[in-house]
Amino acid sequence: MSSPSRPELGAWPALGYVGSVLDRAAHLRAHAGDRIADPDARFYLLGGELVALKGEGPVFDPLFSAGQAQALGRGEPLFLGLDDGAPRFALAFDPGLREELEGQGLKVTDLRSIAVGGLVLPRHLPPVACGKALFGWHGRHGFCANCGTASRILDAGWRRDCPSCGAQHFPRTDPVVIMLTAAGDHCLLGRQPHFAPGMWSCLAGFVEPGETIEEAVRRETAEEAGIATGRVTYRSCQPWPFPMSLMIGCLAQATSRDIVIDRNELEDARWFGRDEVALMLARTHPDGLFVPPPIAIAHHLIRAFVEGIDA
Ligand SMILES: [Zn+2]
Repeated sequence: MSSPSRPELGAWPALGYVGSVLDRAAHLRAHAGDRIADPDARFYLLGGELVALKGEGPVFDPLFSAGQAQALGRGEPLFLGLDDGAPRFALAFDPGLREELEGQGLKVTDLRSIAVGGLVLPRHLPPVACGKALFGWHGRHGFCANCGTASRILDAGWRRDCPSCGAQHFPRTDPVVIMLTAAGDHCLLGRQPHFAPGMWSCLAGFVEPGETIEEAVRRETAEEAGIATGRVTYRSCQPWPFPMSLMIGCLAQATSRDIVIDRNELEDARWFGRDEVALMLARTHPDGLFVPPPIAIAHHLIRAFVEGIDA
């Protein structure tokens, strides 16, 4: 039952970066370069956090022809898959060229802003996120982790081989647990020092080797806020290409109440009542407090709590 003070939240929003329509077509990767000449081939242009867009907006076009992309980008194209049979690639551009690209009439902005602002159709967010994560991995893995020799890209970006020791390296994604911990009509939210003023969110942390998802949820909640948890349930997950994580969204039941904050991790943490959290979701809190935007899985976990869904 909603209380009279609770705002109307409307339909559940869509998570960002999920629901790719691309067929990854992994069997084509070894010879994907042959498909660059396909007249239907299109390229996403990525420069670190930045993405180049065409058109006038408010919804822009992130797809460039091979000729346009190769004039603006550099390095090896990554093969992202097939969109209804049409090849899709990602190509990198130098982020230092931002002003030059903008001078040519392109819009160049960061991936978070594109997702939050709805600057491209939602169907483009998963492949752009994939490309960003892949480029990020290559940027950090230019040398063999086994022997230190410079490695080379194979399979259109999905593998690196070492010419010295023969080791093969494959792109990885880092599992991160993100959890909404509840105690009856209250939930636990925290603030990291880099958050915008007024923003509160779920606690989160990397899954460590040898750990289950549930164990990681319990350990992180105890480490960061001193709260013990019992039942933990999985809710949903989200690729999070900053730089290359998979956010594993869970709901947890607290079995203790007294918060002890790890100041190395959190600036603050406290319990919030369900009605107050609803105002933060709706961005109508009287003190201006709010939670992450609808594209982020934290928003969805907090919404689940407000809707009475718990672990
Ligand atoms: Zn090696």
